[in-house]
Amino acid sequence: MTHTIAVLPGDGIGPEIVEQAQRVLSALQLNLKFETAPVGGAAYAAHGHPLPPATLELAQRANAILFGAVGDFQYDKLERELRPEQAILGLRKALGLFANLRPALLYPELANASSLKPEVVAGLDIVIVRELTGDIYFGSPRGVRSAPDGKFAGEREGFDTMRYAESEVRRIAHIGFETARKRQRKLCSVDKANVLETSQFWRDIVIDVARDYPDVELSHMYVDNAAMQLVRAPRQFDVIVTGNLFGDILSDEAAMLTGSIGMLPSASLNEQRQGLYEPSHGSAPDIAGQDLANPLATILSAAMLLRYSLDLAEPADRIEAAVRQVLADGLRTPDIHEEGTVKVGTQAMGDAVLKALNRS
Ligand code: NAD
Repeated sequence: MTHTIAVLPGDGIGPEIVEQAQRVLSALQLNLKFETAPVGGAAYAAHGHPLPPATLELAQRANAILFGAVGDFQYDKLERELRPEQAILGLRKALGLFANLRPALLYPELANASSLKPEVVAGLDIVIVRELTGDIYFGSPRGVRSAPDGKFAGEREGFDTMRYAESEVRRIAHIGFETARKRQRKLCSVDKANVLETSQFWRDIVIDVARDYPDVELSHMYVDNAAMQLVRAPRQFDVIVTGNLFGDILSDEAAMLTGSIGMLPSASLNEQRQGLYEPSHGSAPDIAGQDLANPLATILSAAMLLRYSLDLAEPADRIEAAVRQVLADGLRTPDIHEEGTVKVGTQAMGDAVLKALNRS
């Protein structure tokens, strides 16, 4: 069976890093069919829109999307709907990508890059599963109005609505449990159930879904405590599942524990497990086209693509092992370079991963 992969390189360093990830996927000889299309600023320049119909059509029929990054300062003055970043929002909406998976994994060789002490973070390996399409970010009503009642009646007030429908909580809880099953079988659901009705409801539903996963150990934590525990003793976590607002904050916090933005992959999935896979960083226009970008986050995103959308765990493991190998061999792109290691460019890092893959 052939799997179609939509390759959307985008802007800035996007094309260079996606090229390396595509080379790695091709080397595995897995019956993948790659189809490339422009997205973001590059698509606006060529077709007048950051997500042209042909790109969207390709993304919808593909089994998975390998995405680089979008955005460039030259497009910052465009009206909002035409800005490169709108392509990501458009893809999320059109494909119903409701689950965002962000691993934060600290390779022992890079333990010094973290702002935490190596003994606290070495061996860190967390996945944050964030709900992506609901919560206070999308709830209505919202706006600015004259306060209808209470202490501030008649004064202008800003307001938003936090809400989650039962089906939304159920489906993200299932992703959380399934992700934990592929790992250490520990799931921590993060909420604010001591204060928020939405969170108490979330917790009740997660407990109900847990009955389908007796092999996964479920715990609950308030978000303020989770934020604290992530910097105090982050290794206690395996998989965290949480809503859109809390996940937005905690996933950035967890990412920074690793100290190296060029190493962090991410996945956004829909109910059919079709997914968009991209590095957690942006298009880094400051280093684009100079062979300086770290391609490993994108290569690791390709591994996630195999694992989560194509159910190909074995080749995904091989890619991750190859990345571990090049780090153990002392190869570093400039963003993670330190004394005693060998500085290499984007292309050479891709070559090294391919070599390690062929040896495995
Ligand atoms: P950024 O992540 O692009 O860059 C932040 C810093 O990290 C820069 O110094 C950059 O050189 C460095 N960096 C990022 N990725 C790297 C890599 N792979 N290797 C080495 N160094 C790397 O964030 P920014 O500068 O705030 O934004 C630049 C553009 O990217 C903006 O237009 C922004 O809107 C866009 N952006 C896009 C996405 C996305 O496509 N998902 C996400 C964030 C930002």
